[in-house]
Amino acid sequence: MLDPVNQAKLIDISGVCRSFPKGSGEDLLVLDNVDLTIQAGEIVGLLGRSGSGKSTLLRIIAGLIRPSSGSAKCRGEIIQGPPNGVAMVFQSFALFPWLTVLQNVELGLEALGVDSAERRKRALAAIDLIGLDGFESAFPKELSGGMRQRVGFARALVVHPDLLLMDEPFSALDVLTAETLRTDLVDLWIEGRLPIKSVLMVTHNIEEAVLMCDRILVFSSNPGRVAAEFKVDLAHPRNRHDAAFRQLVDTLYARMTQRAEPKAPAPEAIPGLGIGMALTHVSSNVLSGLIETLAAPPYNGHADLPVLAGQLQLEADEIFHLGEALQLLRFAQLSEGDLVLTDAGRRFANLDTDARKKLFAEHLIAHVPVAGLIRRVLDERPSHTAPEARFRNELEDYMSEDYADETLKTIVSWGRYAELFAYDDQAEMFSLENPH
Ligand code: ADP
Ligand code: MG
Repeated sequence: MLDPVNQAKLIDISGVCRSFPKGSGEDLLVLDNVDLTIQAGEIVGLLGRSGSGKSTLLRIIAGLIRPSSGSAKCRGEIIQGPPNGVAMVFQSFALFPWLTVLQNVELGLEALGVDSAERRKRALAAIDLIGLDGFESAFPKELSGGMRQRVGFARALVVHPDLLLMDEPFSALDVLTAETLRTDLVDLWIEGRLPIKSVLMVTHNIEEAVLMCDRILVFSSNPGRVAAEFKVDLAHPRNRHDAAFRQLVDTLYARMTQRAEPKAPAPEAIPGLGIGMALTHVSSNVLSGLIETLAAPPYNGHADLPVLAGQLQLEADEIFHLGEALQLLRFAQLSEGDLVLTDAGRRFANLDTDARKKLFAEHLIAHVPVAGLIRRVLDERPSHTAPEARFRNELEDYMSEDYADETLKTIVSWGRYAELFAYDDQAEMFSLENPH
């Protein structure tokens, strides 16, 4: 039997740090001093930008990886492997293609040693509950994405977990399917029909968090920390157009655009600035389109992010990436949930294509250190060429391989647009477009 105190504290994460080795030998700190408790009876949301360490924290709770330091406990015991009573739903539909729906769902129980009659009974109940009645003998390839994700849910529910972990469970679905599945789950939860005690859900979708969660933890990035916590005191069913709903969405947008405290060391010495600035790929076409949209009515240079995201049908994470890219290039400023064009941004909107490229190139050199570095190296070398590896090695001193990849991809596409340098994908070589 469990004592009541530990029973209430299903999960207790305290001072958890986690780092991963980077290419250069140094470690990348992904989670920094994270505290989190989960009680029975609540749906908790982890909201944060891509790369802020949400999945890493979920994997620690699922017992798939260990913290580098700090303690992660389930019902008072250190998590050393997958804890009993914790089940996970993944973003992509991790189903076995050669098994039927029923067999896929039963699989969750096999490992628990449940006998076959009981397995069948519980699997059929879970399939029925999640709305897949009649598809028991279908194979995954015969199902739509939304139905496949329902199978994923059924497989997690069938074990009657105390805690259901969900890692962006709706992000691979189309908008309508995702919404149906969200409301179905919330309805089942409210009616007390889900055989689970609590849910921890990772998302980068602000509205999804407000729609579903009782409590939302906002993660900051680089490294991931719990930056703020919000209680959602809205009755179900929640209405996205409700004033209080909108208000909380606005507040969360504002919290997520709040800048981190300025730090003391020189820019070059800390990741995120200088050469170590990690770039997220957004196309220069999309950026110039966004500048035009912002400059035109009704925004006239100043947009509320949730409104802009709604109009452009973008998710929070996407609008942030765009806003950040514009901010990085000094064409706009993100602040308190708004995106505001700078003078340069306004000027850009009124220029023709060639003049835009020139302005973009100037800003790229001035504000994105890696662009300046590439151009300098190309200018200085007699051949005016340099292998990509020359810059990749330098980037990997500051960031993980994935981030270096993404950063180089971004710089290649922006550099091409600005005609700052050329890049040969085959040879993986940078060169000067017009060496003069
Ligand atoms: P999120 O889920 O918030 O997008 P993740 O937890 O997946 O973030 O990743 C956070 C950071 O940790 C990223 O920089 C990612 O590259 C890094 N990371 C995650 N897992 C590993 C790993 N196994 N090895 C190295 N780096 C990792
Ligand atoms: Mg993730």
